[in-house]
Amino acid sequence: MDKPTAWEKILEHLKSRIDERDFETWFRDTKQRHETPEVISVQVRAPLYVSWISENFASQISESAQLAGLGGREIRFGADGDASSTVAAAKGPALVRKKAGALNPAYTFENFVTGNSNRLAHAAALRVAEHGTRQYNPLFVCGGAGLGKTHLMHAIGHRRLSRQPGDKVVYLTSETFVNEVVLGVRFNRMEAVRQRLRAADILLLDDVQFVIGKEASENELFNTFNALYDDGHQIVFSSDVLPREIPGLNERLKSRFEGGLIVDIQPPELETRVAILRQKAEARQIALDDDVSFFLALKIKTNVRQLAGYFERVAIFSEMRGEPISLDLAKEALKDVLRDAEQTASPAEIIRAVGAHWGLKPTELKARTKKEQIVFPRQVAMYVLKETTSLSLPEIGRLFGDKHHTTALYSIRKIAARREEDSEFNRLVTGFISQYR
Ligand code: ADP
Ligand code: MG
Repeated sequence: MDKPTAWEKILEHLKSRIDERDFETWFRDTKQRHETPEVISVQVRAPLYVSWISENFASQISESAQLAGLGGREIRFGADGDASSTVAAAKGPALVRKKAGALNPAYTFENFVTGNSNRLAHAAALRVAEHGTRQYNPLFVCGGAGLGKTHLMHAIGHRRLSRQPGDKVVYLTSETFVNEVVLGVRFNRMEAVRQRLRAADILLLDDVQFVIGKEASENELFNTFNALYDDGHQIVFSSDVLPREIPGLNERLKSRFEGGLIVDIQPPELETRVAILRQKAEARQIALDDDVSFFLALKIKTNVRQLAGYFERVAIFSEMRGEPISLDLAKEALKDVLRDAEQTASPAEIIRAVGAHWGLKPTELKARTKKEQIVFPRQVAMYVLKETTSLSLPEIGRLFGDKHHTTALYSIRKIAARREEDSEFNRLVTGFISQYR
């Protein structure tokens, strides 16, 4: 075996820090081009990968570089000869160099799609950006990976700067915060770090759960919080779990985190996922048909980053091919990353997936009942099975608790008719079908 390159060492750590499928999509084909004591240069598949990687995975990459003992290096990504973008693996006191301008211009309220899953978080974020109130201080935004916490925090920063251009907005990832404290202590410049933090009119601290368990940083966070809070300055935290679920969180910080408003972001429902895809496509001025957006939105349910990543992959594929995006093209672009199981789903999986759209378990779909909220999803499931498998009507009937084949036939006719009348419903069904065919 050859010795691993620096980039391979980084990948080793990165692998466990990001979603497996994201890793496959964005990093599998990356290769180290060359390496100097300052710079690691990495080859990616196409120029568009460069911006996607640096926008979405910069912090995980720099974290992985640190874990691999390569913390001081700059990492440059490029495709075929150009070294366009750079992800700097954190070195030195980043806080001092970083301006509020470090906000990602793509993460604005205008680009944030709302739905039931995130409406409250969005409203609270907007409120805090525009007014800042005691009641909402701190604002604690909680939600799973890739659901838009970081996006909202940057949006708050942008909005505040546009409303109050003189305000000092400080956005920090928790790693940067911890690094600052560690370096501040080591180089005896804690006072400067403190001054800068406490000058903030609004402090946005992302992924605060990473601070917990690091004693010096926890203390500094507590003191910073108190100083800002007492001066009436706004603080916003994000975390992947609720304060009471952060392991090892001490009481005094917990009571601070819980002292304002806690809002959570849930995985987006189908309509919102589709709307997000439409928005991403529009922003890139790419035409995206409904059958493709429903196909993607039905594949990826719990992580917007991944959803957007799949869209991006399809867009890149279409560009490289010189063909417009179609359902077939999307399927081909994603064939390496979509699990085989998803390509050839069993009837049981189809029933589960259709039921899940209405929050129903397979056993509920099969229950002996005439309640409309069960009957209708059951009819849809029957219809989708008819369209995507070679099962006969009697076989389909049997899958739903021994229904007669005429029941199956009636169901299928009813859904076919409804598809003609209701275009939104039609899109939903088309999405199911294209997912399993
Ligand atoms: P988190 O910080 O919760 O892990 P991010 O804020 O980094 O998630 O979001 C991941 C990606 O998904 C980003 O590209 C972001 O723009 C996008 N995204 C998430 N939620 C939305 C939304 N509601 N509307 C538009 N884009 C979204
Ligand atoms: Mg985040």
